[in-house]
Amino acid sequence: RPRNPLELKDIFIAVKTTRKYHKSRLDLLFQTWVSKAKEQTFIFTDGEDQELRRRAGANVINTNCSAAHTRQALCCKMSVEYDKFIESQRKWFCHMDDDNYVIVPSLLKLLSSYHHTQDVYLGRPSLDHPIEAAERVKSDGSVSVKFWFATGGAGFCISRGLALKMSPWASLGNFISTAEKIRLPDDCTMGYIIEALLEVTLTHTHLFHSHLENLQRLPTDTVLEQVTLSYGGFENRRNVISIGGAFSLVEDPSR
Ligand code: UDP
Ligand code: MN
Repeated sequence: RPRNPLELKDIFIAVKTTRKYHKSRLDLLFQTWVSKAKEQTFIFTDGEDQELRRRAGANVINTNCSAAHTRQALCCKMSVEYDKFIESQRKWFCHMDDDNYVIVPSLLKLLSSYHHTQDVYLGRPSLDHPIEAAERVKSDGSVSVKFWFATGGAGFCISRGLALKMSPWASLGNFISTAEKIRLPDDCTMGYIIEALLEVTLTHTHLFHSHLENLQRLPTDTVLEQVTLSYGGFENRRNVISIGGAFSLVEDPSR
């Protein structure tokens, strides 16, 4: 047993959301896993909502980013997530989407096996190969860069030690200009800063799950060991984890 065991209060969980999902998605989170990590979970959204404010108080952060699903708007949110984490003095930054389910004890257990002062970038790669991107350089040329990135839709975590090193490319709006250099979404930009610029490698973990996977393939008896789970949207209702016997589809439509 470590002498200073990691505690829940050492983790900063950022949940990215948007005004139109406050009811349909955030309600589910507050009714389930967020209730076990209330002080740790920060909601990053793009519109004021008094009901949400009453529910989560200062843990709701209105980023004032645009509510569009564009690279710029999503990178704007990620940049605020990063800055708030740095400000928080906590040991670990974990990003989640609002359709992720976090098994909080598993997250704590996983992070306990690493040290927050070391360079740790933990997540699930969305591709089975590194992404290749054109990095814009001065005098309107570009060079090709290859790097792994953790898919944002499955959640990912970064140690404080690594986050501090990212500051020149990630803090105070720099994240947005960094994303513009490679013209890729927020999660890819994280990978670009960490793997391509800082040369820190992504630790691949299979304990994080996005709804891009076939979730029915996840063995039921391992569900509680997983760190994140996801659910399919309306077009993707059948892509759900099989937990037979627990709740019916009517009682728990998102599974
Ligand atoms: N999202 C956002 N702004 C938008 C649309 C989506 O911040 O305009 C967030 C959403 O709340 C979620 C994440 O982006 O946390 C991914 O969105 P979604 O699950 O709808 O799409 P997908 O997983 O298919 O990319
Ligand atoms: Mn999603």
